[in-house]
Amino acid sequence: MLRGAPGATGPISNLAGRVRPAQRALTTFRGAGRWWPPFHQEMGAAQAWPSPGVEYGGTVSDPKPAVPAGPVPAEPAEPSAAPVLLADHTTFGLGGPAADFRTATSVTELVEAVTSVDAAGAGLLLIAGGSNLVVADAGVACPVVKIATRGVRAVPDGDDLLVTVAAGENFDAVVAQFSADGWSGIEFLSGIPGSAGATPIQNVGAYGAEISQVLHSVEVLRRRDSAGPGIPAAPGIPAGPGALQAARPGEVITLPAAELGLAYRSSILRGTDRAVVLSVTIRLTRRPNTVRYGELATALGLDGGGSAPPQQVREAVLALRRGKGMVWDPADPDTRSAGSFFTNPILADEDAAVADQAIRAALGEVTYPRYPAGPGDPGAVKLSAAWLIERAGFGKGFHLPGRSGAQVSDKHTLALTNRGGTTADLLELARHIRDGVDRTFAVRLHPEPILVGVTFDG
Ligand SMILES: Cc1cc2nc3c(=O)[nH]c(=O)nc-3n(C[C@H](O)[C@H](O)[C@H](O)COP(=O)(O)OP(=O)(O)OC[C@H]3O[C@@H](n4cnc5c(N)ncnc54)[C@H](O)[C@@H]3O)c2cc1C
Repeated sequence: MLRGAPGATGPISNLAGRVRPAQRALTTFRGAGRWWPPFHQEMGAAQAWPSPGVEYGGTVSDPKPAVPAGPVPAEPAEPSAAPVLLADHTTFGLGGPAADFRTATSVTELVEAVTSVDAAGAGLLLIAGGSNLVVADAGVACPVVKIATRGVRAVPDGDDLLVTVAAGENFDAVVAQFSADGWSGIEFLSGIPGSAGATPIQNVGAYGAEISQVLHSVEVLRRRDSAGPGIPAAPGIPAGPGALQAARPGEVITLPAAELGLAYRSSILRGTDRAVVLSVTIRLTRRPNTVRYGELATALGLDGGGSAPPQQVREAVLALRRGKGMVWDPADPDTRSAGSFFTNPILADEDAAVADQAIRAALGEVTYPRYPAGPGDPGAVKLSAAWLIERAGFGKGFHLPGRSGAQVSDKHTLALTNRGGTTADLLELARHIRDGVDRTFAVRLHPEPILVGVTFDG
């Protein structure tokens, strides 16, 4: 199955520091000739790859590149004629109107749309799958660009495969295809909704894996160092490192994953206007990965450790996720969410001691989930937000008295869901839970999704 020219050129061969103007990068996309046919499907519904007989790294029989091979269109994506309801573009089903909503279906359109809005000095909301966004009921005043670019290309690299995916592709469809074909690396991330381009934004992770473990590089359009729309401009946007910081607004560069500051649910791009991810390149291997997550190992009958073929891992992950309402499904109200609403709190030593005392005062001598925060945060401790929420009295199905428009999922304590309410209802519930956990256990929870046009403080 694996054929084609090793060492083929393309975005993956241009690593950090190779700054080039947007136009040349687009030529790279257009000229690559190895983009697989795009696949069009509803988000969350993993389908088979469209064309049997597609060969990795080979010429496809029905090439349909993400960016047409002709001249670069001069026109940016047109703003919508009528306001678009953002609720129709988020998995929460929440969010008011956007007067200026553009859909970019090619890299050219995306670059044009973003650079023209940025040149006008206006704010800009980028939206892809809308599965990690809480948008104000009042909507947004700034332009919105929906990222709907398509294309996947795979090139052998020794025994591995380097897979470059356009930002707007459905990430789970990519996972489905490569897992089915026996490639390891992303199978643990099965069922995470949304786009490929958003995976580095918060370093998506699940079942003991993170995209950082397989991310090779990203191609980005450099923008500016400011907070994203609706996010209070904090003095907290640190200077980005390396090539991104050196690039001028409007330039397209390729950054190695190591320059993205990927950590638990964060990166240097999250919540900022620094850059648009145009494509991601991931490294897949033929070596099955060790299953480290206890619940998953049990589901696979691997309690003693070991690995399983990627497709088997994928099926087990999807089954576990479905049981928790963590596979987006418009028919399942428990998935009208952004997945986990709160991140697992990471506490410095002294704060962990305070929390420990509060937990014992409230619950007596209990054992509770408590892990080292990881190499990026030596000495710090990570607690389980779900455990704290549940023990603070907010179990599955919880909602505020007389306010059933937003509730804790019936399947998972960490997911807050929209049950026909508003963004205001959702945030009221979220604040109530945050404050309850804080009062009971002296631990402050922080939201995982990006909040647009609303604040969570107070
Ligand atoms: C049911 C459910 C389960 C989930 N489970 C998980 C999970 O297990 N693990 C996990 O990590 N997440 C999970 N999530 C959250 C979400 O799926 C991920 O964060 C996903 O990567 C968001 O992708 P998106 O395309 O929907 O991004 P959006 O929601 O459209 O955007 C999110 C943010 O990224 C920015 N952005 C999007 N694309 C780009 C781009 N190309 N360039 C620059 N900025 C961009 C947006 O401006 C916004 O700030 C879950 C969500 C749901 C609804």
